[in-house]
Amino acid sequence: MRFLLNVCCAPCALPLIEAADRPVLFFYGPNIYPREEYDKRSKETEKIAGISSLDFLAGEYEHDNWLRYVTSQLLNLPETYQEGGERCQACFKFRLAGTARFAKENGFERFATTLSVSRFKDVSFINRYGVELAEQHGLEYVTFQIDAGEAHRRGIELSRLHGIYRQKYCGCEFGLR
Ligand code: SF4
Repeated sequence: MRFLLNVCCAPCALPLIEAADRPVLFFYGPNIYPREEYDKRSKETEKIAGISSLDFLAGEYEHDNWLRYVTSQLLNLPETYQEGGERCQACFKFRLAGTARFAKENGFERFATTLSVSRFKDVSFINRYGVELAEQHGLEYVTFQIDAGEAHRRGIELSRLHGIYRQKYCGCEFGLR
């Protein structure tokens, strides 16, 4: 069964590649700002696909659409929200919906996201929405039986081993500030 793994960044994907059944790596980061940072993270994801002999695909860099969507979901300006709150939930929804759509349109039966294994993200929210999208599109949403703290530690270890760039902020212009 064709399996699409949405990758937010290479360090988060490395431990999941070890745990997953040969996914296609799908770099999709419309949230990332600026463009140079997006290109850097995309390149690093392509690099780990090469190291792991996995296929690599990249989504569109639709940052303006992402920003419009996130803003439309909030009562106040996006910059006024703390990281981890409603702005991030809207961000997850945009990225997960884009991934599920891409999976459906490109003949995948299963999809997952690196966001679902994180110490810093609202994983229950992400997984609930992943399941909802899977039902809508007739797909399977995959989760990982891996401890988020252990995955984080392993991600750092493997990134050091392969010389992979580790970013210092989540991704968008608001996290950058
Ligand atoms: S801080 Fe991260 S999760 Fe939150 S809106 Fe920005 S990119 Fe998305």
